[in-house]
Amino acid sequence: MNADFTLDTARALDAADPLSRFRDQFFIPQHDGEDCIYLTGNSLGLQPRAAADALQVELDSWREHGVEGHFRGAHPWADYHERFARGLAHLTGAQENEVVAMNALTTNLHLLLVSFYRPQGKRRKILAEAKAFPSDRYALVSQIRFHQGDPDTDLIELSPRPGEHTLRTVDIESAIQQAGDELALVMMGGVNYYTGQRLDMRTIAAAAAEVGALCGFDLAHAMGNVPMSLHEWGVDFACWCSYKYLNSGPGAVSGIYVHERHLGLTDIPRFEGWWGHDKERRFLMEPNFHPIATAEAWQLSNAPVLNMAVHAVALDQFLEAGIEALRERGDRLTAYLEAAIHDVAERTGAELEIITPTEVEQRGSQISLLAHGFGRQLFDDLTAAGVVADWREPNVIRMAPVPLYNSFSDLARFHAILQHCILKSH
Ligand SMILES: *Cc1c(COP(=O)(O)O)cnc(C)c1O
Repeated sequence: MNADFTLDTARALDAADPLSRFRDQFFIPQHDGEDCIYLTGNSLGLQPRAAADALQVELDSWREHGVEGHFRGAHPWADYHERFARGLAHLTGAQENEVVAMNALTTNLHLLLVSFYRPQGKRRKILAEAKAFPSDRYALVSQIRFHQGDPDTDLIELSPRPGEHTLRTVDIESAIQQAGDELALVMMGGVNYYTGQRLDMRTIAAAAAEVGALCGFDLAHAMGNVPMSLHEWGVDFACWCSYKYLNSGPGAVSGIYVHERHLGLTDIPRFEGWWGHDKERRFLMEPNFHPIATAEAWQLSNAPVLNMAVHAVALDQFLEAGIEALRERGDRLTAYLEAAIHDVAERTGAELEIITPTEVEQRGSQISLLAHGFGRQLFDDLTAAGVVADWREPNVIRMAPVPLYNSFSDLARFHAILQHCILKSH
């Protein structure tokens, strides 16, 4: 990476990259009449310009057809969720029968735990990462209690080694081996929300299977960020949200993946509802449940069409660009941001530590910066200068250079602003 962060050089990098064209398909929030430097696509992705029209199509269908919209209109609502299988399969590296869009993330995590956390005898433990996203921890602890377990002993929370910020794969593997036949489930974030570390999901899934445990991932920060091969890796289940890297709007529909080996079973514990029932027979209103032989069996309710309309637009963008190509551009943007931060540290003498791994296979589009000796003021100064980033106490700034809409020019501008803010506070 050359250490040239001038706007001219950055503009040349943008002009040379065919994927730069996607930026124009988004609304970029404004600050003082200029584009913000929006680096929080890992919290809420930006709005695709095509979102409003897609939503309008469904409002029109409702207006014109009323209840008949379930069977008429551009995308009849009765099988609306089927629109997403192709895009979700592409992003997860799954078969189309293994994925479905439904509900919200934490809701889905609970529904999947009903099926895949089945403590029996001494096999009761769940291995998770320490300082997991709070909602995930609440879900795991409450599931353990729901099964009359004791979270103090049944939840193993793995921390990085002293003085380190991220987990080593070998330490995860040995924690799995150590728990052995007491381990019911490994449940971790595919990409850690705080450090941006991408876990080696293939190795972890294999290690779990080796000791007879199941393995699931929360992909909130992985979906639309890093390519995956969940089916081939043998991951048992996963869930995600679509408002972060997937740009589907606040509170947008979540999705799940269930490995083929768990599909079509009638004896699996599962909370069931009519939308998981055999589609041909749904409206016969029969008393007994016949599960659809795909991940759709986990659906409970009819599709929230108005929230899903935008999801379709967003997934189409990923299908058009391709997740592999986006990751390649994301790697270049992330490396550029990383180099820009190192450059500012060198020029100013500030101690700016990046806690996100440096190896590309261990991260996606995120840099978490630990700004030693700086408090919230640095973050506030960045914000006042048009940088939208994310602050975590005590002094971590999280930034996501998103390949669909962030540009090298964004990052060159960030370089200048960061340097200015640091010099100002010295
Ligand atoms: C964003 C995020 C959530 C949010 O959960 P919701 O149910 O969508 O509100 C949960 N877990 C992780 C790991 C997240 O990153």
